[in-house]
Amino acid sequence: MDLSGSNQPVCAFCDSKRLGLVMDFGKVGLAGAFLKPEQFATERTFPMRLHFCKDCYAVQVTDKVPADVMFRDYFYFSSSIGTLRDHFREYAAEVTRRFLDPAGATVLEFGCNDGVLLRPLADEGIRTVIGVDPASNVVATIDDSRVKVINNYFTEEVARAVVAEHGKVDLIMANNVYAHIPDIQGTTRAVAEALHPEGVFAFEVHYLGKVIDELQYDMIYHEHLYYYSLLSAVNHLARYDMMVFDIKPIPIHAGSIRFYACKKGSKHSASVSPAVVALEAEERARGFDRYETFLAFSDTVAAHRDELIGLLRDLRGQGKRISGYGASGRANTMIQYCGINHDHLDYMIDDAPAKASFYTPRSHFEIFTSSVLGRDDPPDYLLIFAWSFFDEIRKKNASYLARGGRMILPLPKVSIFPPPAP
Ligand SMILES: [Zn+2]
Repeated sequence: MDLSGSNQPVCAFCDSKRLGLVMDFGKVGLAGAFLKPEQFATERTFPMRLHFCKDCYAVQVTDKVPADVMFRDYFYFSSSIGTLRDHFREYAAEVTRRFLDPAGATVLEFGCNDGVLLRPLADEGIRTVIGVDPASNVVATIDDSRVKVINNYFTEEVARAVVAEHGKVDLIMANNVYAHIPDIQGTTRAVAEALHPEGVFAFEVHYLGKVIDELQYDMIYHEHLYYYSLLSAVNHLARYDMMVFDIKPIPIHAGSIRFYACKKGSKHSASVSPAVVALEAEERARGFDRYETFLAFSDTVAAHRDELIGLLRDLRGQGKRISGYGASGRANTMIQYCGINHDHLDYMIDDAPAKASFYTPRSHFEIFTSSVLGRDDPPDYLLIFAWSFFDEIRKKNASYLARGGRMILPLPKVSIFPPPAP
């Protein structure tokens, strides 16, 4: 495993060495590695580079971190986010209606987190519902007798064991996890192994087009290894005799996409949706198959950093108090890439009580719950790192805004809310 950042990187999908460097973040703390002051001295950093594969068009973080380091303390519980709960309920209803005969169907989700999708699938009457996830503290919360939990990575060995016990799987799902798997080739072999010849593989990932459109470089961190375009997904799946037959844009997480894939020659492969054809043409027109497109992206990101830092510096020069809001992995990427430090921000706020009294990696901002906004000395400005949840955040903090508080949105464009009077 390359931890030095100096080795020649290799494409995780096709093993090509024809990679073009898009962004080099230098050595960064892991985006999810919130810590306590006594851990500052031993904090680890890792190189992080983003590359474009000139052969299969996959955009990827090529510096990988051992999984036991990465997922030691996992803070993200899907069910705690209301928007996601509703999304997965609709998702379960849609796949059941389109692809399954519930009474006889077997569905497997890998990276099932706390069962946020498995419960509604069981509610739909699916006969066999299997959840696979390596995070033991997270799957321990599933506690639903209708769900068979496999506390492991989805490997070929696990796939064979599932098939031996339950037969081939009618629907395999992976949500916000197919971009996180270092051994993407092994996992995809497991999918091909377990999937019924007429089955469907549905996976949701963040869409590369959105990253480009909205300059979402804050999505880039070690946990998110891959940034899928349709072109790269098609090239990848073809190596396993699979293909994409439908897609669906998903608004959550500021722009995900759902891919519906099947085995070549199956009944689904005969009806590729017009949306797939249109997106493929659009991506070629936008140059998602060319390195230069991503070099231009990198330049725009650098300009964004300069603009944001310029604004923070101006406001601090006026004596303003500024805190960050939303201590997520995305925040940590932006903080580290832009070089945001205690000259720019005082502390961080996060709505998850579990993060309170922890500190952000590398930048070491202390995290408080949003109750600090009710004190007599609230910050003048909140830098909204969780900008994709802005509507929710704005409503939740209406009283802060009513008392004259302001919010800085870093993306898709640097802006202030409410806007300053002209
Ligand atoms: Zn490749």
